[in-house]
Parts: sequence; C-alpha cells; structure tokens
Amino acid sequence: MRIVLVGPPGAGKGTQAAFLAQNLSIPHISTGDLFRANISKQTELGKLAKSYMDAGNLVPDEVTIGMAKDRMEQPDAENGFLLDGFPRNVSQAEALDETLQAEGMQLDAVLDLEVPEEEVVKRIAGRRICRQDSAHVFHVSYKAPKQDGVCDVCGGELYQRDDDSEETVRTRLEVYHTQTEPIIDYYKAQGLVVTISALGKVEDVTARAMEALKREDHVA
Ligand code: AMP
Repeated sequence: MRIVLVGPPGAGKGTQAAFLAQNLSIPHISTGDLFRANISKQTELGKLAKSYMDAGNLVPDEVTIGMAKDRMEQPDAENGFLLDGFPRNVSQAEALDETLQAEGMQLDAVLDLEVPEEEVVKRIAGRRICRQDSAHVFHVSYKAPKQDGVCDVCGGELYQRDDDSEETVRTRLEVYHTQTEPIIDYYKAQGLVVTISALGKVEDVTARAMEALKREDHVA
C-alpha cells in the first residue's frame, strides 16, 4: 500500500503519519526527518538542506528526489510506504509517478489533511518536538508535557524546530499554497485524493483518516 500525506505545515502530518504507518504496517518516510537526520550528522546534504529549510523554502528537487528514491528502495518499503512531506511540488509528483511506473507500481491514495490557516500558525508557534523521536510532538498550551522541556513518552529533550519561528512559518505557508497545493489537483485528476479535517484530537483524526481510506476503497 502506497500512500502520500499532504497538508499545510502544522496540519499534524508527522503525528498522523506515525500512527497511520503503524496501523497499516508500512514504513513512515518523511523527507523533512531525512533532512534533519543529515543536519544532525553534519553531512554535505545536511549543510545544503539547512540553508533552504531555515528560510522556509524547498530544498532543490535534484537533491530531494534522489534522497526520497533511495529511501523508497530500502527493503522495508518493498510492500508499501507512507510518504510524509514528499512530493511537495508537481515535478516531484511526476518524478514519483515515473519511479513507481518503472517498477509497475502505483499510489493507492493521497490523504489531504485540511486545517484552517489561523490554526496552523497557533499550532506551529507552540510546537515542541522530541529530539529522540520526531513522532513525539507536544504543544506549550494544547498538549503541554508534564515536565517543561521533557518528552512524556521517552524522556528525550523537547526543542523548537529552527523553522518553526512565526516569520518562517509564513514563508512555509506561502510555499505550500504556491508549490505544494497544485499537487492536490494533479492527484485529483488520478482519482486518488481523500480529504479529511485535521481538527480535533489526534486519535480522532487518525480514526477519521483510516475510515476515509477504507470508505473510498483505497485501502483494503
Ligand atoms: P517538514 O518536516 O516536512 O515540515 O519539512 C521541513 C522542511 O524540509 C521544509 O520546509 C523544506 O525546507 C524541507 N523539505 C522537506 N521535504 C521536502 C521536499 N519534498 N522538497 C523540498 N524540501 C523539502
């Protein structure tokens, strides 16, 4: 089963992707996480990506597409994957289609997480993420950790992403509207898009997503 998750920054893609991937027994592939891992390891790719990420812009396709392909070719992704944050523009979507077609494969669904813009800014400004596992996400007011700066799940240190500042969030939103949103129409033309509201409790959104995927017959 091959699924793409789309939605604006702050829609909860990372959180939902982790739960959905677990429910569907497929790996969660996040290009943002892959870039952040490269930044922590101080690789050349990480250094290049950081300059774009800190400004809220997309990392160039030449770098991103190759990295995503390498990850999708790993053995654990043989029977499917859930892509989070890739593709992020139409040329990446076309490259993904070509890669899959070359292997005789295709996507099963594109899950579109909808959230109002004012909610996005509030969510991101207060977001705190665990250094040990990016699926452990907290919020200073909506989901405060029991102890300030410490992950409730694993005790890891919580931090604010460099690109979660209000100014960068505005750029990321603009990039989302101009470059990423067009992929929704691209996939609508293929009959793949399932749209759900990303408002409410995390577990309710996951249940809504699973139901919608089944109802639309995208997922057995
Ligand atoms: P995310 O963790 O998905 O919010 O991604 C964080 C940042 O990583 C984005 O704002 C981009 O700078 C970069 N990034 C992640 N995925 C991609 C992609 N598919 N194409 C280009 N840049 C990306």
